[in-house]
Amino acid sequence: MSRPVDAAIAAIREFLGERLTTNAGLREHHSHGQDTQPPVSPDAVAFIETSEEAGRVLAICNTHGVPVVPFGTGSSLEGHVTPVRGGISLDLSRMTQVLEVNAADMDCRVQAGVTHRTLNAHLRDQGLFFPVDPGADASIGGMCATRASGTNAVRYGTIRENVLGLTVALADGRVIRTGGRVRKSATGYDLTHLFVGSEGTLGVITEIQLRLHGIPEAASAAICQFETLGDAVETVIAVMQAGIPVARIELLDDVQMGACIAYSKLEDALPLPTLFFEFHGTEASVAEQATSAEEIAGSFGARGFRWATGQEERNKLWRARHDAYWACLALKPGHKGIATDAIVPISRLAEAILGAQDDIAASGLTAPIVGHVGDGNFHTVILVPPEPDGIARAWELDKKIVARALALGGSCSGEHGVGIGKREFLEVEHGAETLAVMRSVKTTLDPRGILNPGKIFLN
Ligand SMILES: Cc1cc2nc3c(=O)[nH]c(=O)nc-3n(C[C@H](O)[C@H](O)[C@H](O)COP(=O)(O)OP(=O)(O)OC[C@H]3O[C@@H](n4cnc5c(N)ncnc54)[C@H](O)[C@@H]3O)c2cc1C
Repeated sequence: MSRPVDAAIAAIREFLGERLTTNAGLREHHSHGQDTQPPVSPDAVAFIETSEEAGRVLAICNTHGVPVVPFGTGSSLEGHVTPVRGGISLDLSRMTQVLEVNAADMDCRVQAGVTHRTLNAHLRDQGLFFPVDPGADASIGGMCATRASGTNAVRYGTIRENVLGLTVALADGRVIRTGGRVRKSATGYDLTHLFVGSEGTLGVITEIQLRLHGIPEAASAAICQFETLGDAVETVIAVMQAGIPVARIELLDDVQMGACIAYSKLEDALPLPTLFFEFHGTEASVAEQATSAEEIAGSFGARGFRWATGQEERNKLWRARHDAYWACLALKPGHKGIATDAIVPISRLAEAILGAQDDIAASGLTAPIVGHVGDGNFHTVILVPPEPDGIARAWELDKKIVARALALGGSCSGEHGVGIGKREFLEVEHGAETLAVMRSVKTTLDPRGILNPGKIFLN
């Protein structure tokens, strides 16, 4: 007797042809993201190119009760894309059209598979840029689905603040448009932001209307180094509390800095706790912001600012920051990495980071600290020893760091999302009643539970 998934595959193949594949290599590629969760292959991978195709695949899978797991570039870090119950991996990476750019209104509409770096390459000649910059070259659809951010969020907001509207294919195959092009609207429920952060569990995002920003007249970057991690963190808190509108402020502890020096060949830097800054604005405002930040850093014993004013030097600095994850993995070849993603109110940042530093020391594991600290968000990349108890020790450390962040009024994830890895913390963070309301939203939009099952909720 044929399985429901076989019937679904046959029906999808009728209109996708060879874009529906059961090739073993492609199924393996879609069995995991950049995480340590056990991989599970989908039964098939469907490469769609339009919203209408997304709707047709979903309608068929809904009829047959077959799971559908959207797949952007597979860079997520919590097991998000693993099809734990098999079914169809719905790959949007061929949806790469920038559909329109409205320079006068500073917005654009893209298909979900466009990546943030491709979009910025497309926009550069028009004096515009899209600021949300996760370290991986993720798809805009995946970034919406995980509610991503990056180094620029402290000044320009996360993807949530930069999405104006969406096209979404629902579980039953209907395709809807949410939001619009205007900067604000007071009409109806905010469905756009319901889908942002829904991790492929409520619908498949196929097109996105985005806010854009003007490339600033002037930009400058700097690094400064400290004897202690505490001094670096106190500098961040003081800079943010002083209201200096930094574009980026990133912290790297001594271990992470050592890893970046080795991996990215950073010259003139020492393996010490380090802050990376970037300032945007007019020539005058950039100079003013930089002077204020330098004064504050000096009062916490910074070893002097080193400026990177040329575009090439700035790019090298930020490339090194974006490659921090790979630099960590290169520290111990053969180890996998679990990235924690805790976030706390800025006033509690020192407690959270210094507490994490103590936890890491007590664990005996290597876990560099790096973070978008201007938002109160920091990561530790816990290197998992390839020993039988390695993964258990790593998760134990992860739990301690999360528990402290929650106790300080924070969240278990500032930007990576829940996926599989953070499900157990949701009830503590949001409360049982709130979680029950989230579940009822899920049931309303996806009554048969076909969309990315096994994610966000524990069961
Ligand atoms: C080196 C490195 C650095 C990173 N740095 C950052 C960082 O600074 N900030 C940050 O936020 N994240 C970061 N990440 C995590 C990752 O890049 C983000 O989570 C990103 O948003 C995932 O996008 P993606 O296209 O790879 O999505 P995928 O991994 O393919 O999918 C992620 C989730 O979204 C769903 N999904 C994907 N596309 C759609 C769609 N069109 N419609 C509905 N659901 C969809 C999937 O089902 C899955 O649940 C980093 C990852 C790596 C490997």
